[in-house]
Amino acid sequence: MKVVIVGGVAAGMSAAARIRRLDEFADIVVLERGNHVSFANCGLPYHVGGVIKDRDALLLQTPQSLKASMNLDVRIRHEVASIDRPRRTVHAVDLATRREYEESYDKLVLATGAAPIRPKLAGLEHPRVFVLRMIEDMDRIKAVVDGGASSAIVIGGGYIGVEMAENFRERGLAVTLVETADQLIPPLDREMARDLESHIRENGVSIHLGTAAASFRDIAGKVAVDLTNARTLTADLAILAVGVRPDTALAESAGLELGSRGGIRVSSGMRTSDPDIYAAGDAVEVVDTVTRVPSLIPLAGPANRQGRVAAENLCGRQTVYASTQGTAVVKVFAMTGGGTGASERSLRKVGQPFMKIYLHPSGHAGYYPGTVPLHVKVIFAPDSGKLLGAQVVGFDGVDKRIDVFATAIRAGMTVYDLQELELAYAPPYGSAKDPVNMAGFVAANCLKGDVVMWYAEDFPVKTAEGMILDVRSPGEYDHWHIPGAVNIPLGKLRSQADSLPRDRSIYVYCRVGFRSYLAYRLLRQRGLEKLSMLAGGSLTFHSVHGTTLS
Ligand code: FAD
Repeated sequence: MKVVIVGGVAAGMSAAARIRRLDEFADIVVLERGNHVSFANCGLPYHVGGVIKDRDALLLQTPQSLKASMNLDVRIRHEVASIDRPRRTVHAVDLATRREYEESYDKLVLATGAAPIRPKLAGLEHPRVFVLRMIEDMDRIKAVVDGGASSAIVIGGGYIGVEMAENFRERGLAVTLVETADQLIPPLDREMARDLESHIRENGVSIHLGTAAASFRDIAGKVAVDLTNARTLTADLAILAVGVRPDTALAESAGLELGSRGGIRVSSGMRTSDPDIYAAGDAVEVVDTVTRVPSLIPLAGPANRQGRVAAENLCGRQTVYASTQGTAVVKVFAMTGGGTGASERSLRKVGQPFMKIYLHPSGHAGYYPGTVPLHVKVIFAPDSGKLLGAQVVGFDGVDKRIDVFATAIRAGMTVYDLQELELAYAPPYGSAKDPVNMAGFVAANCLKGDVVMWYAEDFPVKTAEGMILDVRSPGEYDHWHIPGAVNIPLGKLRSQADSLPRDRSIYVYCRVGFRSYLAYRLLRQRGLEKLSMLAGGSLTFHSVHGTTLS
């Protein structure tokens, strides 16, 4: 069997390596138009920032090492220009010599990835405007920074934009971040991104939300970015990080089917509409694990796994790539944030019903130094309690909670199951009741009717007809309280319960949701029924309303 693979990074190299392990005698040719194969594109921002000092550390393999270890015929600077499906050949160009040639295949794998989006904006060709995808992009950006740049504009507040902003700050540049949406890191829900945003500002990055780059100009060798809000920013360089689109040119010109989102359409076995052609990675459209809608989810883990699945099927096995749930995590200076599964926004978009809870447990035992509250949001099905999504933001223990939630979603678990998980605990790492267990307890309480939640977004319209009851201490109340709230500290609530109205709704809240839960239970058992407690307490209230954390 002869296999040709187009694209030699995550999906392509995973496919090549897996095919070799399954078929020692296959001819495997990898054609990569770039200068490198199997490089660590996820590490690129950190070399610019000087965190990864050694550039070679990003170059995981070379054609020579791949020949030696796996007998792969890897050709860098070879671009595939077209596919002749009836003849089962690709037309390739050796970019170094301009030699053109045909390469035959029995099976073809398209792992062409995605390309950074370059909106059609005036002045985009300015030499100081960069994208970041390949090693060469990184080299160009780093050369400008090493050459003494003192300021940078990052356009796009997604994962890559935020990573670049941080790494430019690491190098001492003045950084401005511009994002069209009203929040950073759009895969997260807005209130969950808020604390990350504050932290980025605290680290000296100037953030402009709700505005976009409209055009670029040169001002004395610097790049000036005119924003849609009529302001102009000027810096030594600008990075365009406004997302990627699947690189489907080759597939399209070969007449392969594309999906509704514009990615290459593949079966669950990663086969395209041509039975001899497989595709994997950022170029393909996947099924979203939770919403089941066709989606583009460009992440390294899925790309690697899809490459492996394509390889298995191409070698005659029956392996399924079920779906992608979009598990992602990002370092934001000293903080970490990320999520898995559906967000509230994505569920609203498809009209899928959900319930949500917020909680703020410590990253590890509060009495052991070095922890602060996490911000956790869990989204689940109102009928079954099936886990639909989770987002976690904080300082310590964020990534492991995201991964537990990710595993639970993949296993189809419910919030009841989360209560049962037995997770590793010692004071430096967690709590005897881990935040994931706690999320299960809170969500199960909601489903069982042990507690009814109200949400920060219910203020002020829905709450206007009732009484907002603050059960924190008078000191906390004096420092900040929800406008109009009445303060009865939890310790005094039993004695004052009879004074509370029974004919009006009572909206209880505290700082994180624990005292308000106790208050809820004690009032409920005294016969008050029009009662609810604020999900996530005043901490989540601040994140939703953008008020200052107290
Ligand atoms: P790619 O890595 O894009 O590789 C496709 C290759 O195909 C390219 O090298 C291209 O040159 C080649 N090619 C395309 N067309 C042709 C052709 N006609 N002929 C020959 N060759 C061709 N993901 C995460 O999960 N976590 C992270 O932290 C993370 N950080 C990232 C940081 C950065 C700066 C970037 C750029 C990406 C990051 N990603 C991250 C995304 C992740 O890198 C991608 O999802 C992954 O690389 C996709 O792999 P792929 O093989 O599908 O595509």
